[in-house]
Amino acid sequence: MKILVINAGSSSLKYQLFDMENEEVLAKGNCDRIGIDGVFSYKAPGKDVSIEKDVAFPNHTVAANKVLETLVDPEIGVISDVSEIGAAGHRIVHGGSFFMEATLVDSDEVVEKIEACKTLAPLHAMPNAAGIRACRQAMPNIPHVAVFDTAFHSTMPDVAKTYALPRDLCEKYSIKRYGAHGTSHKYVSQKTAEYLGKKPEELKMVTLHLGNGSSITAVDKGRCVDTSMGLTPLAGPLMGTRCGSIDPAIVPLLLDNELVKDEKTGEMRHMNGTELNNIMNKKSGVFAVSGGYSDFRDLEARANNGDEACALALEMFGYQCKQIMAGYIAILGGVDCIVFTAGIGENGPTTRRNVCKGLLEPLGIEIDEEANQIRGTVDITGKNSKIKVLVIPTNEELMIAKETLAVATR
Ligand code: ADP
Repeated sequence: MKILVINAGSSSLKYQLFDMENEEVLAKGNCDRIGIDGVFSYKAPGKDVSIEKDVAFPNHTVAANKVLETLVDPEIGVISDVSEIGAAGHRIVHGGSFFMEATLVDSDEVVEKIEACKTLAPLHAMPNAAGIRACRQAMPNIPHVAVFDTAFHSTMPDVAKTYALPRDLCEKYSIKRYGAHGTSHKYVSQKTAEYLGKKPEELKMVTLHLGNGSSITAVDKGRCVDTSMGLTPLAGPLMGTRCGSIDPAIVPLLLDNELVKDEKTGEMRHMNGTELNNIMNKKSGVFAVSGGYSDFRDLEARANNGDEACALALEMFGYQCKQIMAGYIAILGGVDCIVFTAGIGENGPTTRRNVCKGLLEPLGIEIDEEANQIRGTVDITGKNSKIKVLVIPTNEELMIAKETLAVATR
């Protein structure tokens, strides 16, 4: 079956068409700057096609139609008719308390529930739903499946997912740990089992998805038992521009004391929650500590040239990831392997070294420095290590396609 995977953001609609016979990507690209000036990109790997041009995308529906039109284009297309697409899989950031697993979108009610998660995922819920609506309109005769980033974490026990706030408030606002990056953690945990020639049920592991956003997950027998992101993707280690977990009392301290200039009136007033949330999400993390650098390549280059603030940011990142990882090893009662993935996890030997250094004696973890320099799927376990340390590239789109296939053919 051919499956179209859609990842709709507020101003973009990313797509990948898979042939699930061999899990090959037939075409992929992005409809970017939807509602602005519209930029369309398309790549069909086998055909050596790559186009990028200005197109008017007033909304997600026009963008979805542009994707289908291009996929069947007689010159650059990869299928002869839209009916060759057997199902569409949609990446949905938050399933709230409604969705514990990939779900067939067989009614408007499913889409409405995704929209109802907008308080939990303010940036993503509405665009995710708009993507589904647009694609259901463009492809009304195929199954559409919603695949939730939060689903893999729904197996967390109460001890890991409950916040110690008054119960009535938690219930009123659906406050609990949901986690994020679940599709990636699920994919790499399954791939790791495959790589080791074992079943997921036979393994305990900690998976570290380290990218612009970073999360760490404890996986026991293929199921998530704890994860570092919380109600929102702000919790956990400090990240590119997110502060990570901080003392919650910092929030009222800043709200009560920090004054900002009101854009409309020009008067000084107290900072509001939205403004502080923006600071914690977009102006904090290694970006703040380093004095303006969020890309780990820049941080490493500058730290190597003696920039102390960048060195501190890198050190803090390794420190906090190590702290969470070691906590999960204790929770799991030991692990078989540690797995690094995503932009930094896959490409950052310095971070992997920082996270694992000094752990041979206390936890039996050591990495092999030579292997640590290799790219791709690689075993970087040191010769004295009791625990395997692996780098497994993530592929969230393929995981979405696999889950979509499973639901669509159920
Ligand atoms: P996201 O999907 O969360 O936007 P990615 O998983 O693509 O992020 O990770 C992006 C980050 O990966 C970049 O910000 C950069 O810090 C890091 N990265 C990419 N390549 C390298 C590299 N060669 N060395 C160190 N870090 C890298």
